[in-house]
Amino acid sequence: MEPTEKETDHIREKLLAQKSELSTRVDRIHEHARDPLDSDSAEQAAQLGNVAVVAALESEAVVEIAEIDAALQRISAGTYGNCVSCGEFINKKRLEARPASTECLTCAESKNPG
Ligand SMILES: [Zn+2]
Repeated sequence: MEPTEKETDHIREKLLAQKSELSTRVDRIHEHARDPLDSDSAEQAAQLGNVAVVAALESEAVVEIAEIDAALQRISAGTYGNCVSCGEFINKKRLEARPASTECLTCAESKNPG
């Protein structure tokens, strides 16, 4: 079933809210990254560990932002809710749980078995 205009509006709001949350997170990560490392070597090692964790979190957030932007573009183009692989409509429950989904459950699962 194709999402109604009202549902699409709701999804767009959700996506925009998620995007601003992610942008805030990325900004905070950048602030942390600018902090100078402590001169103590043990501290430094711990902080470098954090840097790796933080970098992973950042790239995760950046990927999510890109997915959200793509979803917003699909909403504008009127193709939102269509699976990019098979063209079927994506289950509404799936879109509700993960509004930036680009594929239906069948296609997503076929790519990531288990
Ligand atoms: Zn599909």
